[in-house]
Amino acid sequence: MVLKLGVHVSISGGISNSVDNAVKIGSSAFQIFTRSPRQWKSKELTPDESDTFKEKLGNSPIGPESVADHMPYLPNLSAPASEMYEKSISVLTEEITRCNILGIPYLVIHLGSHLGQGPKNGINQLVNACTKSLDAYNDLGLPRNIVKILLENSAGQKNSIGSQVEEIQSIFDILGKNDYGLCMDTCHLFAAGYDLSNESGVSALFDNIDSHLGVENIKIIHLNDSKGDLGSNLDRHYHVGLGKIGVSGLRYLVNYKKFNKVPFIMETPIDSVRNDVDNIEFVRNFVNE
Ligand SMILES: [Zn+2]
Ligand SMILES: [Zn+2]
Repeated sequence: MVLKLGVHVSISGGISNSVDNAVKIGSSAFQIFTRSPRQWKSKELTPDESDTFKEKLGNSPIGPESVADHMPYLPNLSAPASEMYEKSISVLTEEITRCNILGIPYLVIHLGSHLGQGPKNGINQLVNACTKSLDAYNDLGLPRNIVKILLENSAGQKNSIGSQVEEIQSIFDILGKNDYGLCMDTCHLFAAGYDLSNESGVSALFDNIDSHLGVENIKIIHLNDSKGDLGSNLDRHYHVGLGKIGVSGLRYLVNYKKFNKVPFIMETPIDSVRNDVDNIEFVRNFVNE
């Protein structure tokens, strides 16, 4: 099995540097922010920047189908009607546009927080935000949208949308699988109460996901261990195998047959415990030949 495995890489110094960064550490998949994740404003991509990115990616061993963009952190697509909500829709439209220009097929979005208005309201706002953003892209007169928006499960922090499979289904059923898919984060799943620490927990969860959502709609897996306990609702990523989930469940998941074409992206800290190269090597050794 050829494992598609990588990490979130930096675009510092120019967006095409992300490809060099990914290749340098032996990634066969990678994720980026196309802009600073902690600012509302972004600079428009120049044709030179996007051409260089596509050229470098084309000349690398990494296929474009193994690249994802992650939405910045500030937008809240489930927020009640407000200026902030409108700005969130604009950022999503910008990111859809940037992905299309860069030839990136997947855009991972957080499902946001209803800020106390209740999940039903939050879900309505989220669906409206996604639909409006795609419509806005389509109105720009650019080439047909090639980007799938991937709904990422949340850890279940207060007021958050989408920590439970059934709730994600209620969103995905409305949006449909043409323009949407799923990104599953293992840390978030564990924090939301799904026990991935052993084989039976992993297979029960993915049977559950399969019956509600269809596992074939999972296009990216965020492979993160968890610093927080099972059901803690804490979004604290940790190095694979060294957190509360541990090796055996995550090893089983990496080898799960239905995921043999799905890119695994680690979003783990770089610290004295392990760097990205060590993490990639550690998970590569999981693969059962
Ligand atoms: Zn995320
Ligand atoms: Zn997280």
